[in-house]
Amino acid sequence: MIRELHQKLINQKITSEKLTEDYFSRIEKKDPEIKAYLSLNKEFSLDKARAVDKKIKNGEELDLLAGIPCGIKDNICIEGLPATAGSKILENYISPYDATVIKKLKESDSIFLGKTNLDEFAMGSSTENSAYQTTKNPRDTSRVPGGSSGGSAAAVAAEMCVYALGSDTGGSVRQPASFCGVVGLKPTYGLVSRFGLIAMASSLDQISPIAKSVEDAAIVLTRIAGKDRKDATTIKSGDTIYENCLTGDIKKLKIGVPKEYFSEGGLDPKVRKLAEEAIKKYEKMGAEIIEISLPSGEYALATYYIIMPCEVSSNLARFDGIRFGQSIEKEMGLNENLILQDIYFKSRAKYLGKEVKRRIMLGTYALSAGYYDRYYAKAQKVRALIKKEFEETFEKVDLILGPTAPTPAFKIGEKTENPLEMYLSDIYTVTANIAGIPAISIPCGNVRIKEKDLPVGLQLMGKWFDEETLLSAAHTLEQSA
Ligand code: GLN
Repeated sequence: MIRELHQKLINQKITSEKLTEDYFSRIEKKDPEIKAYLSLNKEFSLDKARAVDKKIKNGEELDLLAGIPCGIKDNICIEGLPATAGSKILENYISPYDATVIKKLKESDSIFLGKTNLDEFAMGSSTENSAYQTTKNPRDTSRVPGGSSGGSAAAVAAEMCVYALGSDTGGSVRQPASFCGVVGLKPTYGLVSRFGLIAMASSLDQISPIAKSVEDAAIVLTRIAGKDRKDATTIKSGDTIYENCLTGDIKKLKIGVPKEYFSEGGLDPKVRKLAEEAIKKYEKMGAEIIEISLPSGEYALATYYIIMPCEVSSNLARFDGIRFGQSIEKEMGLNENLILQDIYFKSRAKYLGKEVKRRIMLGTYALSAGYYDRYYAKAQKVRALIKKEFEETFEKVDLILGPTAPTPAFKIGEKTENPLEMYLSDIYTVTANIAGIPAISIPCGNVRIKEKDLPVGLQLMGKWFDEETLLSAAHTLEQSA
């Protein structure tokens, strides 16, 4: 899609201004119901689009993303625009700087239509934890779009942007991509700079593209990847052109299928069937399918729900009504009885949501003296074990295949009462974050539920920094559909 739009732009079949206007009219028509966007950036977008049109007229060479409209998750900072992270505590916050990924996309002349909805501080699997609104799934508006990057996935699915950025800490890009029928790619930890991403759990977070096709995701990845002085965990030079790696050659590819991912438990039989059909397709196209076992995966979700809240409790300490965030002080006025701790407690009590508080408390507890070894240190050991298991597995296979989520999109309100049930929708995705490996979700078919076709995603996981093989295999399957 991006390539075709680019051709149309440079051949002057359309202008970027017209393209941008079209996207805004679609947003005006559809978004009052879908609620994918938290804020729009219309004037600035149109100005930018006209500037791109000028460059085209002048015959300047343009990047593939020039003049292409996108949506950005509202926990990624764009200078001069709001960045609420879906939280009331950042309701009036305007970012004073650009995230590195935004700086890079600006160099490509991409157009930022607006900021998309998310679960508060990216904690959730449905966008129902957003302090502002629940995004609806464009394929069935009685259902959730997934989360936490549900706004980004819904915006792409409903054609309210060409591509979007989300962030993936435990599946927040892949699971909504699966629920909305689009592509979500979590890069290897360290491939994309996290500078300017409002941190949830720093050792797991990665900014990730959501797009209509594997090629589009690859095009975006090429532009945002690379070493950044402002994020010491970035470690690759970033000169790979991922969209040129989609060779279609999967003949010698070894694809591992973990038996644990297909065993009973919560996996919907219809989802399993679609994943099995994808396996058959790969086999037919010449890939070698190898049954594997990832026994430590059983502990992945438990490990995630210790490490993640620990990092959350530390990262979110800055939202205290003094350094960052809405403050109760304004409301209470000058009050000599108001001591510093009151400001902290009362501001956080008032402006942070229930799920965020739950995780801060869990994390603080797990890090406290006496429990640190029992929970946090132990979880780190299991993390090392899970990583080792992947290392050994990747000596035998090139990719690992399984479902992205155990079910298609669930109903709005269905899992809000029971957070543990909500956590289970990440069961297949968190392992990639724990190990730091790249993973992609691509649509692999629909299941029919109550006269609606609901999309289902297939997940492929690859070796550290081997996005080439991952994207190429995903692209081949996509093209065979
Ligand atoms: N749904 C998961 C959670 O609630 C993942 C979140 C994410 O990837 N940001 O933690």
